[in-house]
Amino acid sequence: MICGMAEVSARSNKVIFSFFGPPGSGKGTLAEQAREELGFSVLSLGNVCRAHIAQQTELGVRLSEYVQRGELVPDGLIVELAKEWFLKQIKTSNKVIFDGFPRTKRQAELFLMWQRQECPDYCFRVILVELAEDDIVKRLAGRRVCSQKACQSVYSKVYEQDTCCRCCSPLTTREDDQEEVVRQRLRLYPAYRDSLLDYYRAIGKPVETIIVENLNISQVFSAFKAML
Ligand code: AMP
Repeated sequence: MICGMAEVSARSNKVIFSFFGPPGSGKGTLAEQAREELGFSVLSLGNVCRAHIAQQTELGVRLSEYVQRGELVPDGLIVELAKEWFLKQIKTSNKVIFDGFPRTKRQAELFLMWQRQECPDYCFRVILVELAEDDIVKRLAGRRVCSQKACQSVYSKVYEQDTCCRCCSPLTTREDDQEEVVRQRLRLYPAYRDSLLDYYRAIGKPVETIIVENLNISQVFSAFKAML
């Protein structure tokens, strides 16, 4: 696999996968499976934000303004959260997944500039997880999550279960999965996606794609494993 970075010439065993795609495309579920079955460390900045909000920290109050409106958290702030998490994780893990980060061109610029200087031995790979808009709305409307902040596992409503299989906590609907907020998140997505993809093209970073339409979870997981 070509990393597209001069400083990582051969395929590295130190890897950062950036999963990128619309809300509801299943990138979080795929990341979770990669964590459980392949030992990846996974960063979900959405989960980090929600945990801060639930703890009502000073940062949480700031973050809630954006998350609850379905807007993106400012680039500088979200990149700092990602760097902080990454530096902790790489003490114990060589392979990490960023679930939904970078999401904007500026986030990618800031993170890659920093990573090239601080951790150039990591190969940064981008996986675009694609799904059509109609399917996204259906999926998000049917999504429930574990209410335990440390868990936040995702379930589909079709399974009609009320508790989490992993930690037995009750399931709930995410506040930002309300229809109006979902629509706002989807409205913002294409503009961010296009400028991010333009940026990757400009710097010669390959973008690998998994089209999840008509694929079940294990097929999506197989497609990812084939990329390793
Ligand atoms: P998610 O759980 O990935 O759907 O993210 C939920 C919310 O967290 C988003 O709507 C944003 O408010 C915030 N968030 C998560 N990741 C990012 C990011 N990379 N950039 C900015 N905001 C983010």
